Amino acid sequence: MTPDEETLLRRAIELAAEARAAGDPPFGSLLADAGGRVLAEERNTTVTGRDISAHPELKLAVWAARELDPATAAATTMFTSCQPCGMCAGAIQRSGLGRVVYALSEGQLGELKPGGAAWPQVPQEGPALLDEARVPVEGYYR
Ligand SMILES: [Zn+2]
Repeated sequence: MTPDEETLLRRAIELAAEARAAGDPPFGSLLADAGGRVLAEERNTTVTGRDISAHPELKLAVWAARELDPATAAATTMFTSCQPCGMCAGAIQRSGLGRVVYALSEGQLGELKPGGAAWPQVPQEGPALLDEARVPVEGYYR
């Protein structure tokens, strides 16, 4: 990691502190272009926004998919105070961002949380009703 990248990662950590000061969980992220220019910043607002999906990484991934052309998105790097969770990692994949740099790992976060970082598993059942379920999907992807 270059000194300029460390500066961007430190800004993400500052955003995490700002989130905590505002009453939200302490996570912050930003998106930078290939030259290190900050394109967008976000912090966690899951408590104040009453929105379980209001993680900064997810908000930036949605913003990038909406506002950036694919080539520009692919040239960006997300700097984030903590390793993206599964929800955010999926959104980052779909948004076409080029790279993620994080400070705390998920495991390191877990060591700082009394109950650990893992969310409970929700049982899933399926597949079922294949003949009916395939009708709206068949022919959509070509
Ligand atoms: Zn997340």
